Amino acid sequence: MNDVLNRLSPSLASLPVYVPGRPIEEVAREHGLDPGGIIKLASNENPFGPSPRAVAAMEQAVRQLHLYPDGSATAIKRRLAETLGVAPANLILGNGSNEILEFVGHAVMRPGVEVVVPELCFAVYPIVTALFGAEMVTVPARDFAADIPAMLAAITPRTGVVFLANPNNPTGTRTSADDVRRLLDGVPPDVLVVMDEAYIEFLDEPVDLIPEVLSGARPNLILCRTFSKIYGLAGLRLGYGIASPALIAAMEKVRQPFNVNSIAQAGALAALDDDEHVARTRGNNRAGVAYFEQAFAALGLPFIPSHANFVLVRTGNGSRVFGELQKRGIITRPMGSYGLPDWLRISVGTPAENARCLTALREVLGVG
Ligand code: PMP
Repeated sequence: MNDVLNRLSPSLASLPVYVPGRPIEEVAREHGLDPGGIIKLASNENPFGPSPRAVAAMEQAVRQLHLYPDGSATAIKRRLAETLGVAPANLILGNGSNEILEFVGHAVMRPGVEVVVPELCFAVYPIVTALFGAEMVTVPARDFAADIPAMLAAITPRTGVVFLANPNNPTGTRTSADDVRRLLDGVPPDVLVVMDEAYIEFLDEPVDLIPEVLSGARPNLILCRTFSKIYGLAGLRLGYGIASPALIAAMEKVRQPFNVNSIAQAGALAALDDDEHVARTRGNNRAGVAYFEQAFAALGLPFIPSHANFVLVRTGNGSRVFGELQKRGIITRPMGSYGLPDWLRISVGTPAENARCLTALREVLGVG
């Protein structure tokens, strides 16, 4: 048939599709619920929302929307560089850190290149790998966490990229400082290490790799971070990569000129001024993780101790439990697409949201 669909790249047929958390409005419509009464604990968002300072700055930015954004994002880049103790030339901004992951694909992935990921890795790594026709090598997890010696052993002369999220989504596991260093020391210098630090701000003792980048000793390392999690700006779509100026310059070539919109630039700038909001979020998260973990232990539900802003718990038949919770106005994330059909991922909410979720979970499971 003479059809444009026959012209599609054959790789699209097998491309994995990202399954996002369900939006509140959609769930409200489906179950005839009041959207105001629905809580979303599905996408590891900040339950306190954005910083009020960010909101005010974004309201101001709206008035200037007839103008293109600053294509170099000068102000936010400068401010971010100051905050992180790096130079602006060490930074690249993306429309979410997902876009940074895609830049990695543009820059180094192509057919014949192998990409090493740990089992139970963030869903976007396999998508980007397939998008660029590269070949994914999945290294079995060990106790649900990345097995660093096994990942090193999986590296071949064809390996171009290694992905590691620390902490990892969806497991919430953390890679120790020793293992991070073992990975960096063991990876050949022509293999790019993507250290995805989307949840790093939730750690009490994060492994700080910025000095490694600045020292020039790791030209093959890029750190990815985001405003979507602790800063509460997931809808804004702003993430960034930290790497050597040479690697950043190469990746800048694949970036669209105005990939970070003006509202995002203004909002993020103000968010960086609100340490209190970040500290409050971190404190709430610590308490929320402990709350869920203690409750799961008491109920005899297996869970993976979390270092992020969500908890992975084995409820049995995760899609059923997800569905039942959803009917009660609580959106969580079933884990079938990650190969964990018996598990559910619950993002930490406010104390009231957590309590409501737990009560509903008890009811659905008929326990406690
Ligand atoms: N990396 C990890 C590990 C994540 O969990 C997420 C968000 N779910 C991202 C990257 C992407 O976040 P964003 O594009 O919103 O910055």
